[in-house]
Amino acid sequence: MFSLTCDSSLEFFPYCEHNRSTRWIAAAATELNFTVRKGARVAIVSIGAGLGEAFLTTKQVDIAIVGGAMAGACLALSLAQLKGPNGERYQVALIEANEVNGTRHPGYDSRAIALAAGSVDTLKGLQLWSAIAANAATIERIEVSDRGHFGGVAMTAAEYDVDSLGHVVELERTGPALWQRLTESTVELYCPNALTALTQRQHQVELTLNDGQQLNAKLVVGADGTMSQVRQRLNIDLERQPYQQTAVIANISCAEHGVTAYERFTSEGPLALLPMSDGRYSLVWVQSDDEAQRRLALDEQAFKLELQQAFGQRLGLIEKVGARASYPLALCKAERVHHHRSVLIGNAAQTVHPIAGQGFNLGLRDVATLVEQLDVALQRQQDPGDYAIVQAYADSREDDRSRVTGLTDGLVKLFSNSSRLMALGRNCGLLSMALSPTWKRQLAHQAMGWSRKRT
Ligand SMILES: Cc1cc2nc3c(=O)[nH]c(=O)nc-3n(C[C@H](O)[C@H](O)[C@H](O)COP(=O)(O)OP(=O)(O)OC[C@H]3O[C@@H](n4cnc5c(N)ncnc54)[C@H](O)[C@@H]3O)c2cc1C
Repeated sequence: MFSLTCDSSLEFFPYCEHNRSTRWIAAAATELNFTVRKGARVAIVSIGAGLGEAFLTTKQVDIAIVGGAMAGACLALSLAQLKGPNGERYQVALIEANEVNGTRHPGYDSRAIALAAGSVDTLKGLQLWSAIAANAATIERIEVSDRGHFGGVAMTAAEYDVDSLGHVVELERTGPALWQRLTESTVELYCPNALTALTQRQHQVELTLNDGQQLNAKLVVGADGTMSQVRQRLNIDLERQPYQQTAVIANISCAEHGVTAYERFTSEGPLALLPMSDGRYSLVWVQSDDEAQRRLALDEQAFKLELQQAFGQRLGLIEKVGARASYPLALCKAERVHHHRSVLIGNAAQTVHPIAGQGFNLGLRDVATLVEQLDVALQRQQDPGDYAIVQAYADSREDDRSRVTGLTDGLVKLFSNSSRLMALGRNCGLLSMALSPTWKRQLAHQAMGWSRKRT
């Protein structure tokens, strides 16, 4: 039934470079009831059917995506829907290190994120919004203010003749909904499986997973977050600038509830409250690392009091504060987002400060651009890892990446500065936005994620 050949005269076992470790060979040999001499160099020449097959074959796919959180899952589902001129489809593999039904998933945790109206349009275009909409709350008004100063600006959906300025989605509810779709799709899921090695060849990229499985892909996509293994294995440099700030998040309930998202700049950092379903608000409170540690250790009552002081009375009394979590903040930008048969998307490409809620909105534009390029390749029956495709993806993303990373970094510096002159300047800025329809429209378009299309 099985046929496994050993040739101890071989100088080099071809799988060694992909970490086909002694442990893997020993396990395969046990599976096949085969004895491997200790220290022998082994070549697996042919593989039979049955149990051993899944264990030993190297899977060939068109596109392998590493990381199945927001960016990776959205990309996999979008690619699975594409169809070539003769009905061809991409064979897509999605490799995710953590099971998605758990409560402690790093990509689908207790965070709630604001999606700009432009992102909702994109998700609708990719046929993904219906999977997310059930967990989304609308934002119909945005209020921006500077604590202790006179400036402030508010904008409403009605002013811009739209139904909403954006939506708030809860990641821990969105993850299972996207993964439910994935299990019903043609995407091959490798989960829980982590990428442990990657080798670029002329016509493919060879990937090794933590359990020894091997995949060959024409294109590999790194959607594996800020500490991306794909990026590290491609030797792409990362520009990292820590902010010495931490975001403390929690779901809270207040005496009043509405459809307004608040962003309040304080001397420590910005504090945002995003409206959620069931009368809750999602708090993102950015502060110095030390203050965050101190506040994380406070009991609920003491934390509530400090939060009330920082946010004020706009929503009446803060009644309840749920479990708190924290994220140290840094600007991380990959020096480039493409390499031979490889691209980076989402946080693996860039991780920005949450000050303007741009992170996934930007990552989703990576997804949409890559889907566009890979659709072109499919229509032309072109290799998806062709250099022209990965280069076109990188070129199309350059301006948007620079603009958003520059904008968020600039805002962090502007609003973290407590000098009276800077405070005067930014409040005049906020005030003039409130008074000038043109400036305000620009801010609104940025908030709605339309800056590329409609300014
Ligand atoms: C406090 C806070 C508030 C935010 N608010 C907003 C907001 O309002 N609006 C907005 O647009 N964005 C916001 N963001 C940003 C947004 O949350 C992220 O940009 C987005 O969730 C990143 O998704 P991702 O899929 O790119 O990466 P990640 O969520 O980091 O996912 C990476 C995935 O890769 C997997 N992985 C890692 N290594 C491996 C490996 N070796 N093999 C296999 N799998 C691997 C991980 O398990 C994980 O599932 C906020 C961020 C923070 C911290």
